[in-house]
Amino acid sequence: MKIKKGDTVVVISGNSKNLGENKTHKVLQAFPKANRVIVEGVNMITRHTKPKKMGEPGGRIEREAAIDASNVMLYCSACKRGVRVESKTVDGKKVRVCKKCGKSID
Ligand SMILES: [Zn+2]
Repeated sequence: MKIKKGDTVVVISGNSKNLGENKTHKVLQAFPKANRVIVEGVNMITRHTKPKKMGEPGGRIEREAAIDASNVMLYCSACKRGVRVESKTVDGKKVRVCKKCGKSID
């Protein structure tokens, strides 16, 4: 999986309204083993919580649910769009590089 926590991505498919090539989102969490990511503002679900005490109103919590990592692409600031990346080793460091323009994403 090429997506990491803190990455800027675009979402290419899914059931969110916040889609589009030029809409960027931040990755809040990445789960490499499950190949899933949680992306800020994408795939929101509403959870209803019960009141803890008598007389307290129940709450509605909106939060992001994980989506498949294949639904997002890393955003390249030079190409200004989601791009495919490849791993390269530069000066002994592993970096992700835009396949289109060769710019390092890391
Ligand atoms: Zn690029």
